[in-house]
Order: sequence, then structure tokens, then C-alpha cells
Amino acid sequence: MLYNMLNAAFAPAATFVIYPLLFWALFATAAKRLHDTNKSAWWLAFLLVPVAGPVWLVWLLGFRKGNVYPNRFGTVPGAAADYYKNDAGALIPHLKTEERLINDVTQLNPVLVAQVVVPQTVEELQQIVRTAGKPLSVGGGRFSMGGQTASPQSIHIDMRALNKVLAFSAEQKTITVQAGARWCDIQHYIDPHGLSIKIMQTYANFTVGGALSVNCHGRYIGLGPLILSVRALDVLLANGEIIQVSPTERSGIFYACVGCYNAIAIIVNVTLDLEDNIAVKRQQVKMKGNAYKPYFFENVRENKDVIFHNGDIYPPFYKNVRAVSWVRTDEKPTEKTRLMPLAAAYPLERYFMGAFSKNHFGKWRREFIIDPLLYKFKKVHYRNYEAGYDVMELEPVSRKQSTYVLQEYFVPVQKFDAFLALMSEIFIRHNVNVINVSIRHAKADSGSLLAWAREEVFAFVVYYKQNTDDAEKGRVAVWTRELIDAALSLDGAYYLPYQPHATSEQFHRAYPRAKELFTLKKELDPTGKFRNVIWDTYYK
Ligand SMILES: Cc1cc2nc3c(=O)[nH]c(=O)nc-3n(C[C@H](O)[C@H](O)[C@H](O)COP(=O)(O)OP(=O)(O)OC[C@H]3O[C@@H](n4cnc5c(N)ncnc54)[C@H](O)[C@@H]3O)c2cc1C
Repeated sequence: MLYNMLNAAFAPAATFVIYPLLFWALFATAAKRLHDTNKSAWWLAFLLVPVAGPVWLVWLLGFRKGNVYPNRFGTVPGAAADYYKNDAGALIPHLKTEERLINDVTQLNPVLVAQVVVPQTVEELQQIVRTAGKPLSVGGGRFSMGGQTASPQSIHIDMRALNKVLAFSAEQKTITVQAGARWCDIQHYIDPHGLSIKIMQTYANFTVGGALSVNCHGRYIGLGPLILSVRALDVLLANGEIIQVSPTERSGIFYACVGCYNAIAIIVNVTLDLEDNIAVKRQQVKMKGNAYKPYFFENVRENKDVIFHNGDIYPPFYKNVRAVSWVRTDEKPTEKTRLMPLAAAYPLERYFMGAFSKNHFGKWRREFIIDPLLYKFKKVHYRNYEAGYDVMELEPVSRKQSTYVLQEYFVPVQKFDAFLALMSEIFIRHNVNVINVSIRHAKADSGSLLAWAREEVFAFVVYYKQNTDDAEKGRVAVWTRELIDAALSLDGAYYLPYQPHATSEQFHRAYPRAKELFTLKKELDPTGKFRNVIWDTYYK
């Protein structure tokens, strides 16, 4: 019909109307297909090569699969354009109120809050704090595993919309961001400038505010808690006032904000140090547990070329350790992308995790078959790639009957062997289904009131599986308290982002300056506006 109409209106001149449109449509479609494979539209110039050019283009455009991951021409239609992130709080269907269930990835710690608010601007956040008639709890990525982001019937503030980059200097290697920004967001921003985050966790899903509030650490060598890379913060006090704090300016408040779980203030903006985004190559060696400390001191601790390092202790006998270092290199990266691809499905990683957690045979297979095979491959990554893991790769098929959980203990470096012996005995006696214990190293904290590294420490990061019933929860609480006692007996501490099984006495022994924090909280937050399960449990 269109043809007849154009023919009647323009007769042969219709060619000049239809063909440009047709060619434009063909060109646009072909260019889009090329973009699917990360190729520019200039590749269509191959049409000029007789025979081979058109044949090759037909194959490329008609038969080749598009990229699964976002490429330089944009995200993949239909694919999730983002990392895995937690929901916005579950609605309770039969309740007609605004109450929501705030839970964490383990699904073990549901807390019913009165309302969830998502401030879009700092002014809105200030208004919420000024006018709140109820206690306030604050959430970042909500990956902490013990109610750290919620308190019953509080107003839960979801910080994730406050995620802008406010200032950036490639020369000075610093960035200022709003606290709801996630590490993965920052990595995307700084990667084109050849820069990398100085200190962060192994996974990139977490928000900067959440990471600062727990004073996280990564696998970096020569560094330590995140506080060591913080230049300054803007923090919002319970009275609604925003002030700037740093290690030199109002340092008392600075040291009561970093590592202090929203006890006295909400972190609003953060200025952080950055590092060069260099290529790093994986090296590994397996050894007996008691050989690890001397190995670390001789080969890793002072070695400026080691960027990341961790040791994996193999369960169920805890006798052997695989020490893995990522070392500065000039070799070409073995991965095509500079950053970890977004929203991958991780079927292999998740299958292996399930298999390792099944029984002793699964753990044996890991130590003697899977890991030796996996570590045969040469790996060279950019620093940003190696710091860009997604927690989704750890996710079990279901968390209904059983769930994976983290715990962490810190001991002075000289007490490594003593803690390894105590920890192994407790795990074996209680038949704990440990999937992995990762050893990390950290230099001493610069002064957080809840410092977990009061001196140079080794961290033991425990990833284990537990059932979700009450009997199992009670059993876990018993062996957790035993592990805390073991760490305390060696002048160590335990990490607070996980389940709050510690008794009040254990908490104060692990964090002797908590009393100073509580005194400051009474002064700056006299009505106890800022709450969460930690403060509901330990703040008196
Ligand atoms: C799979 C996994 C791996 C992990 N690996 C590591 C690791 O390698 N190293 C490590 O150190 N930790 C690790 N952790 C722990 C992790 O660092 C903490 O749970 C961290 O808090 C998560 O960040 P988030 O944004 O989810 O914080 P959330 O869980 O949302 O919040 C944590 C705490 O910070 C407070 N908070 C959040 N935002 C603000 C803000 N803007 N101002 C004030 N307070 C705020 C919350 O109230 C809460 O008390 C891991 C956790 C998981 C689940």
C-alpha cells in the first residue's frame, strides 16, 4: 500500500524517497548488531572488499552471538545492568502499615522496622534526622550479618540513593563521594583514569558508608583497616548538624565514626586516598599451617611488590594452608576486561561452594583435586578487577534450611600458631561445617574507638554453613563464644559485622574503648536516636 501511495504521488522519483530510508534502517540495524559484539560501525566498510567482505559480514551479523556483558557501546538489553544488591525491605502482606522486614544476606536476622525511607538529597536526610519521632537505623548495602542496620520499630534510612561523586583529583589521587556509593560505582568512575581504591573489602558490593562504619579491611599488604585511607568525613549528628571531621580536625568525633556502626552520627560524605591501577599476577604455594607465619614474614610482609595476599586454611582438619599472593607485574592481563564484568551468574563458583559444604569428601575434593587444577592457570588481573568481586558468587541455591555465614577473629601476628590450634580444636569438637578460613594481615589502626587491630594482626575470616532452626542457632552461639574467648585469651578481638553472640563482658574485653564511645554517645545523642541491634545489645 505504501509503495502504491508513493508510486502514485512521486512515480519513479519514489526511489529517492524509499531507498535512503531503507538504507538508513539497514545501516542502523547492522551498526547495532556490530555494537553487540563490541565492534564499531566502521566494520561495515568491509562491504567494499569483493566477495569475502560481504560473506564475512553476513557471518558476523547473522550468526555470531552478542556480548553477554556490557561493553563500550552500553549495557546488554535484557541483562541486569547492575551488581547484586539487597532489596528495599520486605513488606508484610497482612499489615496495613508501612512496616518492613529488614534482613541481611544470611536471612537469619529479620528485624521489623516501622518504615523505610530513602533520602534523595542530603537536605532530605537532615530533615529526617531533625524531625524523627522514632529511633533511626541506617543501612548501606545491608550485607552485615547480625541486625547492624536495623532496630525494632525504628525508621530505617536506606543510604543507597546518596551515591554521587562530589570531587575527584587524578593528580592528588583522591576522591570525595557520598556515603551511599558502592565500591563498584567508584571503580567504574576511576578506572578510566588508571586509578584504584586504596583499601576496600574483597567484594565490591558494599557501600562506602557501611564499609567505613565497620572499618573494613581487604587482602592488601602493607595496609590495614580502611581508616588508614580516609582523609576526611562530613557527618550528620543526631541534632541535625553536619560537621567535617578528620584525623586532625575534631578527631575525637572522627574516631567515633569510623568503625563505630552509626553510634553517634551518619556518615554523609567521604574523602578517600586512591592508588594506581596496576596489573598483578597470581602466585601460590601450599604448605603446612605452622610454616605459614615464617613464610609470611620472609616473603610477604615487607615485599612492596605484593599487593594482595591471603592464606586459605583447608577444613576439615586445618593442617594445610595455601598462600596466594598477587604481585606487581608488567605482563599482559589474562582477562579481557579491566573491571569485573557486571551481573554474571557464577554457576561454577556456586556449584563448587555447595559441593565443598556438603561433606568431608567435598572438602577433600577441593583441597586435592579442584584447587590444584584451578591454581594451574596463569592469572594476571588489573588491581581493580581483583578488587571487584560480587558477593553473588557465594550465594547458595536456597537459604531456607541452611545458610552460609561469616565470622572473623583477629590476633596479634605473633599469636598466629596459638590461635590456629585453638580454633581448629573448637571447630573439630563442635563439628562445625567450615567451608573456608581465609587468613588476612593488617597493620595497626590509627585510633578508632572500636579498633579491631589495636596492633599488627592476622585475621581469620571464617566462612561456614549452618542450619536455620533455633537449635542450630543456639549451637552456633556456643562455639562462637568459645572462639571469642580463644581470641581474647591471646589479646585479640572478634569482628562486629556478624551475629552478635558475644556476651557484654566479651564485647568490652574485645573493645576496651567502647566505654569512651558510649560517653560520647550520651553527650551527642542523648535520646539514643541512632540505634541498631549492636547498640540495643551492648549500649547501656
Ligand atoms: C560476603 C561478604 C564478604 C565480606 N568480606 C569482607 C572483607 O573482606 N573485609 C571486611 O572487612 N569485611 C567484609 N565483610 C563485612 C562487610 O565489610 C560489612 O558487612 C560491611 O558493613 C558491608 O557494607 P554495607 O554497605 O553492606 O554496610 P551495612 O551492612 O549496610 O551497614 C553496616 C553498618 O554500617 C552502618 N552504616 C551504613 N551506612 C552508614 C552511614 N552512611 N553512616 C553511618 N553508618 C552507616 C550501619 O548502620 C551498620 O551498622 C563481608 C561481608 C560479606 C557479606
